Amino acid sequence: MSRDWTKEELQAASKAMAAAGNMSYEEFCEKLNEMTAKMLIERFAKKQRGGNYPCPCCGFEKMNSDPVRNALSRRANVYVCDECGTVEAMEDYFGKEQSLTDWAVVMNPESFDMA
Ligand SMILES: [Zn+2]
Repeated sequence: MSRDWTKEELQAASKAMAAAGNMSYEEFCEKLNEMTAKMLIERFAKKQRGGNYPCPCCGFEKMNSDPVRNALSRRANVYVCDECGTVEAMEDYFGKEQSLTDWAVVMNPESFDMA
């Protein structure tokens, strides 16, 4: 049996979880979205080896046809274009990270035969 939580109940539970050192509900949802995005990206990585696709991160046709001549992403086990590889390196340097949910392959899976 489950019931719908009211907004107030969710907020209170979320606050209590955060106060107890756990993830808040919002953090949990964010984490879940990231994980789902990462799973999709890594499923795409298997496809990537067998065909010519745009960069899964920026979505542009900038990939070298020889996969290993592209940059290996620091976020997931997948190749991205050189530019995205550089951006990731800079993000790491500045301690920031673009969410995987913003990747082209996650936003437009049908363009990558992933829908
Ligand atoms: Zn790119």
